[in-house]
Amino acid sequence: MTLSNPHATCVTDCLAGLEAGPEGLTTPEAARRLARYGSNSLPEVRGRGPVLRFLMQFHNVLIYVLLGAAVVTGALQHWIDTGVILAVVLANAVIGFVQEGKAEAAMAAIRTMLAPKAAVLRDGQRVTLEGADIVPGDIVLLEAGDKVPADMRVLEARGLAAQEAILTGESVPVEKETTPVAAEAALGDRRSMLWSGTLVTQGTARGLVVATGAGTEIGRIGGLLAGVEQLTTPLVAQMDHFARWLSFLILLCAALLLAYGYFVGHLPFADLFMAVVGVAVAAIPEGLPAVMTITLAIGVQAMARRNAIIRRLPAIEAIGSVSVICTDKTGTLTRNEMVVAAAETAAGAFAIAGEGYAPDGAITPDGDLQQLAHAAALCNDARLHRKDGAWAVEGDPMEGALLAFAGKTGVDQAARRLDAISFDSRHRFMAVLTESAAGRLIHVKGAPERVLRMCAGLDAGHWHDRAEALARRGLRVLAFAARAEPGERIDPAALEGGLTFLGLVGLIDPPRTEAIDAVAECRAAGIRVKMITGDHAGTATAIARQIGLENPDRVLTGHDLDKLDDAQLALEVVGTSVFARTSPEHKLRLVTALQSHGLLVAMTGDGVNDAPALKRADAGIAMGLKGSEAAKEAADLVLADDNFASIAAAVREGRTVWDNLKKVISWTLPTNAGESMVIVLALLLGLALPVTAVQILWVNLITAITLGLALAFEPTEPGTMARSPRARLAPILSGELVWHVILVATLFLAAVFGVFAYAIGKGYPLALAQTMAMNTLVVLEIFHLFFIRNIHSTSLTWAAVRGTRVIWTVVIIITAAQFAVTYLAPLHAVLGTAPVPLLDGLLIVGIGGAFFALIEIEKQIRLGLRS
Ligand code: ATP
Repeated sequence: MTLSNPHATCVTDCLAGLEAGPEGLTTPEAARRLARYGSNSLPEVRGRGPVLRFLMQFHNVLIYVLLGAAVVTGALQHWIDTGVILAVVLANAVIGFVQEGKAEAAMAAIRTMLAPKAAVLRDGQRVTLEGADIVPGDIVLLEAGDKVPADMRVLEARGLAAQEAILTGESVPVEKETTPVAAEAALGDRRSMLWSGTLVTQGTARGLVVATGAGTEIGRIGGLLAGVEQLTTPLVAQMDHFARWLSFLILLCAALLLAYGYFVGHLPFADLFMAVVGVAVAAIPEGLPAVMTITLAIGVQAMARRNAIIRRLPAIEAIGSVSVICTDKTGTLTRNEMVVAAAETAAGAFAIAGEGYAPDGAITPDGDLQQLAHAAALCNDARLHRKDGAWAVEGDPMEGALLAFAGKTGVDQAARRLDAISFDSRHRFMAVLTESAAGRLIHVKGAPERVLRMCAGLDAGHWHDRAEALARRGLRVLAFAARAEPGERIDPAALEGGLTFLGLVGLIDPPRTEAIDAVAECRAAGIRVKMITGDHAGTATAIARQIGLENPDRVLTGHDLDKLDDAQLALEVVGTSVFARTSPEHKLRLVTALQSHGLLVAMTGDGVNDAPALKRADAGIAMGLKGSEAAKEAADLVLADDNFASIAAAVREGRTVWDNLKKVISWTLPTNAGESMVIVLALLLGLALPVTAVQILWVNLITAITLGLALAFEPTEPGTMARSPRARLAPILSGELVWHVILVATLFLAAVFGVFAYAIGKGYPLALAQTMAMNTLVVLEIFHLFFIRNIHSTSLTWAAVRGTRVIWTVVIIITAAQFAVTYLAPLHAVLGTAPVPLLDGLLIVGIGGAFFALIEIEKQIRLGLRS
């Protein structure tokens, strides 16, 4: 089975060469070929191996400082210090390695959730398969917006064009046809071929798969999968930058401190050096970028669990701050489980009973709906089949409902299709030419006003009113028309004015109950929800009212939008929630108009023409089920279930992630400042160190891997969806945060020096006083953690005290570790500690409580002033 130069070979020979037929492969044959040719996927681009990833953990300013310090302390033969430093270095690398691995695994899992699907003929039937299961010889059905899943020879093309930039660099779509081209034609000139990984921008096609997986052109150049996502967002990048900058500043200060202590304070070099190293390590927020990355990865997973799949990580920040959500109607706000409920013809109005896609249900009154039903069945690309005893649809649910309706009338559906014009949301109709017992006929279905324009010899005004009345009931309305056609092709121009009107059909598409709650939740969260639909204004208003949108009766149609210039549109757009009969081009204008008010806009889309609006929006959201690959590629976020409620869930998770990032920062910076200032102050004032350098290293290590990480796992704070969206450019390093750093660091200093002075005053040995001071530091950090968990509300609730399992796990670990270094004799030698008397231990915990009370009161005052 070989085929060289398929682009230069005629269709029949291509089929013969691949031992395939126009009806597709059989399932057993496809399985054989899959076993022989392998899966249609490109070999994974291998990321950095584990060894390299582990070594990269040492590539970090802090680690260099520590390694330098280990060498110096080693040269001074302070072996205990050297040992502690090396232990800290190793622990840091191991933790970083494990965290990074988890974050990468989370992103990899997300990527597999976005694996594309393809429509293929198998056993003569259209089925939807994973792209990976396609084999050479398969017949693939493609339409505008699809991503080509393998290299294929075009067997059939209608208005077909593909964008092949990833392969040829040419961004203008190339028109495709079935005629063979010259054997030596360049890749970009092989118009009889479609290439894996390219996008169909218009038209429809049938293609014969000639190469899969690594055998495709894109596979040969090893492209496509190379785009492994960086685990970062603007905020994390900004913090990373900040942390690096801060590290250098700290190193500079440390050097000055060393010089000052040695030349001015005349301190012994060895002790001074260790103290300065302790300051640097305590002050550098080394763990911050890593913990923020973990926070993001956890957010990505939480969103995926709620059916919102992040494609571009920065979107996780954007989605949490949106102030407007523009959403499609069909399938997002409604269930997209359609049922034909009403039909109207010249013979009268009919009610149609029945549920789901089962082709049985009574039609009342009895009457002749044959012609209408015939049109509904033939002007249709869907297929009904029985699955687990119930009727299911392959294809568009609306067309499935039309097939069920036709079934209820018992009309004969046998016909051979000769030509078709597929539905496009810009021209809003679909036409097919078929040959059947009734002869050669063109059937058209589409939006009533569009179809009525094509018809002659009828009272258009009457039918407009009828359509309007159906729409007001919240039904989706379609009109049908027909004409005899002697030829074999549909001439689009000949449709206008030459058709006979057959009737109207009204379909129910009930709102999703969860969308009603989600809209209410968004409104409470200060987010405006706007419906942008291609449907009729009447239908849109009826659904908008059921869903609970603001001002459902104020509708702007696509026609209205065309009459407004950008300035007028910007005025109208904020107060209007329903936009009907719009085309994808209108979406782009609406996004721009909303953004001109400084609003952060989320926009949904599914078609190939929605891509520009999705790219322009602050958060572009594509539909996972009915969305095209083109829309998914343009989007930041994909909804696995097409459900509006998942957008609301994503906003909630986005806000949680942002809060948690802020909490991680707000906990880390004051803690680092407090720890380091303890030593700096002692050195500058020439006092005895209340906490030794080795102890600072120990505290820094043990708290960073426990308390510092715990905040990444924080659940959503209550009231998160009752707050207004944060301002577009709200900086994270705000004045409030700076104030918090100063306040907490000062309180840390006061407490640590206070306890140390108290202990010395009681005549305790230096080791005991230092042990008490170190424990004070850790206790304060634990209380600070509980405080930070509730930055938007009080921490004085039972829920806040009860905490989470993560919080208590880290608190227990750290308490156990502190008890060990305080009371286990072998560790006394390492850290220079001594057992603390019980009452003094209680005093330390009491000081932590007092610290907590102070900052909590300060927060209450601050929150009170703000509201
Ligand atoms: P949304 O943008 O919220 O998904 P929609 O699905 O109603 O709304 P379009 O798909 O653009 O938007 O459809 C616009 C109109 O075109 C529909 O109201 C209907 O009248 C008509 N229409 C939709 N699908 C078809 C189809 N397959 N064949 C013929 N006409 C259709």
